[in-house]
Amino acid sequence: MRGALGGPRLLLRRLREVMAEPVSAQARLDKIVVLIANNMVAEVCSFYVLRADGTLELYATEGLKREAVHLTTMTAGEGLVGLIAQKAQPLNLPNAQSHPAFAYKPETGEEIYQSFLGVPVLRAGNTLGVLVVQNRAHRLYSEEEVEALQTTAMVLAEIIASTEFQTLARPGADIALRRPFSLSGQPLSDGVGLGHVVLHEPRVVVSNLIADDPGREVRRLDEAVADLRSSIDALIDRGDVAHGGEHREVLETFRMFAHDQGWIRRLREAVASGLTAEAAVERVQSDNRARMMRQTDPYLRERLHDLDELANRLLHRLVGREMVGGQAALPENAILVARSMGPAALLDYDRRHLRGLVLEEGGPTSHIAIVARALGIPAVGNVENIAGLAETGDALIVDGGVGQVHLRPQPDVEAAFREKARLRARRQEQYRALRDQPAVTRDGVRVGLHLNAGLVVDLPHVEETGADGIGLFRTELQFMVAERLPSTAEQLALYRAVLDAVPGKTVTFRTLDIGGDKVLPYMRAMEEENPALGWRAIRIGLDRPGLLRAQVRALLKAGGGREMKIMFPMVATVDEFVRAKAIVQREIGHLERHGHQLPSEVKLGVMVEVPSLLFQIDEIAREADFLSVGSNDLMQFLFAADRENPQMADRFDPLHPACLRALKCVADAGARHDIPVTLCGELGGRPLEAMALLSLGYRSLSMSPASIGPVKAMLLSLNLQELTDHLGSLLEERTAADTLRPHYVAFAKKHDIAL
Ligand code: PEP
Ligand code: MG
Repeated sequence: MRGALGGPRLLLRRLREVMAEPVSAQARLDKIVVLIANNMVAEVCSFYVLRADGTLELYATEGLKREAVHLTTMTAGEGLVGLIAQKAQPLNLPNAQSHPAFAYKPETGEEIYQSFLGVPVLRAGNTLGVLVVQNRAHRLYSEEEVEALQTTAMVLAEIIASTEFQTLARPGADIALRRPFSLSGQPLSDGVGLGHVVLHEPRVVVSNLIADDPGREVRRLDEAVADLRSSIDALIDRGDVAHGGEHREVLETFRMFAHDQGWIRRLREAVASGLTAEAAVERVQSDNRARMMRQTDPYLRERLHDLDELANRLLHRLVGREMVGGQAALPENAILVARSMGPAALLDYDRRHLRGLVLEEGGPTSHIAIVARALGIPAVGNVENIAGLAETGDALIVDGGVGQVHLRPQPDVEAAFREKARLRARRQEQYRALRDQPAVTRDGVRVGLHLNAGLVVDLPHVEETGADGIGLFRTELQFMVAERLPSTAEQLALYRAVLDAVPGKTVTFRTLDIGGDKVLPYMRAMEEENPALGWRAIRIGLDRPGLLRAQVRALLKAGGGREMKIMFPMVATVDEFVRAKAIVQREIGHLERHGHQLPSEVKLGVMVEVPSLLFQIDEIAREADFLSVGSNDLMQFLFAADRENPQMADRFDPLHPACLRALKCVADAGARHDIPVTLCGELGGRPLEAMALLSLGYRSLSMSPASIGPVKAMLLSLNLQELTDHLGSLLEERTAADTLRPHYVAFAKKHDIAL
């Protein structure tokens, strides 16, 4: 019977001996291919390495002509070897020459071989090369042989990753492992950062691949799986899902996979082929990652992602390492790379060394994005497989303005970005010079520029930017970054610190806006089909008034002797606001009775972010002391376009007449009822959009700290009267235009507006 001579375990043992021999990298490869060919009773064993230019180069062979080594190349997708690299899947053919992808390479003399087995050489799901065995006779290699070859390929992947191996690449034929990548994602936080990769969850480096005692490895695997299962059960049972803010749903998926027989079988087979338990997990995980990268169905991708995450946990268990290792001292110029990350984890890092953040997940209005902006860290989200591609210490450039990252950039790319960063720094300096200039248009219209904030780290920005105050203080951020529900005393301390930090300036506190995507890790999340339209913000506050009352009390106490501005999120009807006001009145009465110092004045406002308010705008304006437009949510509900879904991000332009009319309706109501109107969504922080808002009647905007300078520069160069004369009637015209952007752009160009 044909088959592996001595079996895969003997092969791995022999491989280990070869790895330990003090020979050159090429000699080691030459020995390895002989070893594989002998062990698998194959006439040919060839090893191809993927180069940075996308071609596969023959690096070693036993059986084909030796002269072909380093000469034979093929593009990914070309021939059987190219096909394996492209699909990242094994190919097992009894008659290779009849396969449509077969490509003849005369220099190798391979036409006499019929049977063909090739496997991808994978590392963290990335294809680094292809390993092939061939036989003259027609034969189908057994599953055990396919398994053995894949296991050997894993050892080869580690050899490719070694520094010694890099010396084999000829100039101009660098290997793919180190190749530069330019990847696109979602802009999360503006700015350019250059630095070196720090992995938030450092990959476990499995150095011990080959098992000494296979029986022991099976036991280790079984114990680790059992341990993993019970830890997931415990997390679900406890109902507190504090670990990284993950959701119950994810844990349920983990539980399902942890009991999946197919997965367990693949892990056991990998151990049976001679690997250590951790190497087996890594092998199966790498195959899974390769599948994930090629999967286009978003649902299936998500599930493969979950499985990957689970394998990660198993790996950490087997090597006895804690999952999150990011709090260690950061090197200078660190760029943090993570698959996903909560805001609390980001705040644990030393801001002084952080130059950027790159995530595989995360939309522009996600919380991690809000925190990154607050910290002024350039950030890009939705970057596919960045945590798999990047290695600790790799050079990485983050362009948070356009949402691009450049991994291991070429020197010219790096030079271009150094220049861009320098120019940006100079522009920031110019903005800083505007700090003390009043925000007044050329024709004398004063515009209030306020900051959006929510954390203590935000507070110095008021002074730095010269903002008029804090136009939106997102109180839920304190709750989101905490390990447990903040006590009333902790809330009070924060609100006091905020007011103390900005003496003489106004702060508009928004009551808790939780629910929807803003899940508190320590609170049981309700299963909701459409959380953005569900039980959130003021709805929770009114249904469970305990939390709202405690918060209002803390706010009123903090504001003792000063003016207090409080507003409520997600108000959909006048009645909701009236009830919220009653809660505040009740707390004022309570504090009065207990002899507390009350605020000198309490102003209560409404966030206009649910479209229903547009149709009760006079009624709500009559009840409110001020209005504040939450354009992030207003846009999402107006166009029915999920703000968290990157596919929806550019679908509708906020300068669409429908949106502009909605915004104008609020500004007009403010003027009619003589109450202040602010806009505090992301829209107000973009100079062109801010200009459009001024033309609609807005005289107060609240934005992230980095936007104050650019928006102020815009309005200092603007003659508002000219703008309204020119474009004022545009909205009245019954235009079917998809956006009025070109009109605003043309005006800005013609009048030299600083954008
Ligand atoms: C908004 O919806 O525009 C807003 C400012 O609030 P948040 O982004 O916190 O929902
Ligand atoms: Mg909102």
